[in-house]
Amino acid sequence: MRRSLGTAGLFGTLLVALTVVSAAPQLPKGGSGNADAITEDELRLYEYFLASDQLEGRNVPSRGYDTAALYVATHLKEWGLKPGGSTTGTNGPLQPYFIPIELVSNQIDAAGMKFTLNIPPAADGGRGGRGGAGGFGAPALLAPGPRSFEYAKEWTVGGGGGGRGGSPPIDAIDITNAKLVFVGNGYVINKTSTDPYKSIDVNGKFLVVAGQPAELAAAAAAGRGAAGGGRGAAAANPLGIENTDFVTPQSYAAKHGAAGIIMVPTYQQLSAMATPATGRGIGPNGPPYQVVKFQAPRTAVPTIVAGIALANAIFQGEKLTGPQVFEGATTNARLESFELNAEKKVSLHTAITVEKGATENVIAMLEGSDPVLKHEFVVMSAHLDHVGLAAAPNETGDAINNGADDDASGSAALMAIARACAQGALRGIKPKRTMIFLWVAGEEKGLWGSQYFNQFPPVDITKIVADLNMDMIGRSKTPGYVDPPQYKLVEPGEVFVVGPDISSTDLGKIVDTAAAGYKLKVNHFYDTTAPDATHDNLGPLPNGQRIFYRSDHYNFAKVGIPVAFFADGLHTDYHRVTDSPDKIDYKNMQAITKTVAAVGWMVANAAARPKLNAKLPDQLVNDMLAAKAAGWGALTPVPPPLPRTPF
Ligand SMILES: [Zn+2]
Repeated sequence: MRRSLGTAGLFGTLLVALTVVSAAPQLPKGGSGNADAITEDELRLYEYFLASDQLEGRNVPSRGYDTAALYVATHLKEWGLKPGGSTTGTNGPLQPYFIPIELVSNQIDAAGMKFTLNIPPAADGGRGGRGGAGGFGAPALLAPGPRSFEYAKEWTVGGGGGGRGGSPPIDAIDITNAKLVFVGNGYVINKTSTDPYKSIDVNGKFLVVAGQPAELAAAAAAGRGAAGGGRGAAAANPLGIENTDFVTPQSYAAKHGAAGIIMVPTYQQLSAMATPATGRGIGPNGPPYQVVKFQAPRTAVPTIVAGIALANAIFQGEKLTGPQVFEGATTNARLESFELNAEKKVSLHTAITVEKGATENVIAMLEGSDPVLKHEFVVMSAHLDHVGLAAAPNETGDAINNGADDDASGSAALMAIARACAQGALRGIKPKRTMIFLWVAGEEKGLWGSQYFNQFPPVDITKIVADLNMDMIGRSKTPGYVDPPQYKLVEPGEVFVVGPDISSTDLGKIVDTAAAGYKLKVNHFYDTTAPDATHDNLGPLPNGQRIFYRSDHYNFAKVGIPVAFFADGLHTDYHRVTDSPDKIDYKNMQAITKTVAAVGWMVANAAARPKLNAKLPDQLVNDMLAAKAAGWGALTPVPPPLPRTPF
């Protein structure tokens, strides 16, 4: 009987050992389920596999990540846990444990990028070349006719805020013979009655935009002066509320059918063009991917940044020259709008190479025993991915970010909890509510896997009563270790818990009880959204580390689920090739893992589900509203595996 549970011989013997030695400290009756079955040895076993060089840092997408997913699923299957992934079109025993996530990589194909400007004959018989400024020099007059400009050197894309998280800020497009209209900085500003589009029809034309409103430039300068590192709350916009008090050129262009925008460059953009990236700018982890289902339809119009030669050509023979416009833009002067010569037309062709990809969340369930409560869920989560290969090897030639602590430790802990729950269930120790064990992908890319789970949930999201997330639970201070600036690592016998003081003190009480049962000190130093005298006050100023927003539990919080996040803090090996399994404090990791298992058990058996705090931080409330408005939480059956889903 037992065998069906256990995996390799070694593991079987481990099981025997477990039932004999580990007498749990006295938690309330039935307080820890089978948490005491969790051992240091099994944690070390999973950790050394997940953090091995062979998985090459588990980047998403990669063979290393998929191998980690297969490894976890193999154990889940052996432990007899119910799969929570694809139910149709699966190949083999492991794919049912995967929630496939379709990825795509759109890359600009430089060879296919074409920009042509038709230069009309000079109206003034060629008396051009007036004045020069800012490296613009006196512009050489171009002969009439079509003139092509070289991508990356004489023009580039972007600058319009059209990018979508790593994808190129432009789609494959083809525009021919579009006219041009100059609109100054292109902002409509109500409070100064500024409207650069008065009596100008922009439909089908390219807007030529230079500079920005002086108010924005001043605020940006002040902002650069004030803010330190870290991700601070955005300062209020001096123009007011977008699309209420002011309209950006991008929004105006999109709303009024303009063909696109051509930006007169800033110094920064000029220097970027002066040293264009060679090759496809793809690092050792391959091209950047995005989650297909997260891609909002692009609203922004194509935006081009002109280099000096192109800017001069655009203004050749016009009432303002390239140098005059550049001068005006650099000083944020108010430049009047005007239509450019009607014969001056733009043709733009962009080429994008599209590479399909895939990754997967790994999910299993232990069904609850109570006829009613089994329809409610306790989620325990960790992220299975890490940052992959380093851009360059370190002094010892090591280029693999093993991610032993981040987050092989949480993933290993979750495996141990899943095994203990599965074993307990076979011995009749069954929770009332259903437990979900969730390993998410792409946390390092932007909390992808947990967003996917909460945006397209495979279960009724309103029935999820809590998320217990583990991310970096394997390290503690060793003798002589000193926290570097802005970082704080736990002492042995301690764990940071983030979430209860922010989202659910109810859940916090359960955490404290469980932790006490394992003699683990709960530290709430990072359990805040704003630094104060005793919380998150080591910097970066002014906003601190903002840990509450930085791991997968936050996507559960965004749909109104109480969360508790377990972590050891930050240390000198964070996101380095030196984050290796030999540095893990397995004793402390075991205590944390048992505590999380006990919390899961207690929540799964509690008469009532933990309540959300009445007062929640503004940013969370705003993000909850945004998630709701974006349709997060609609029950979504798990799709069949993708062609690249491992099996
Ligand atoms: Zn992490």
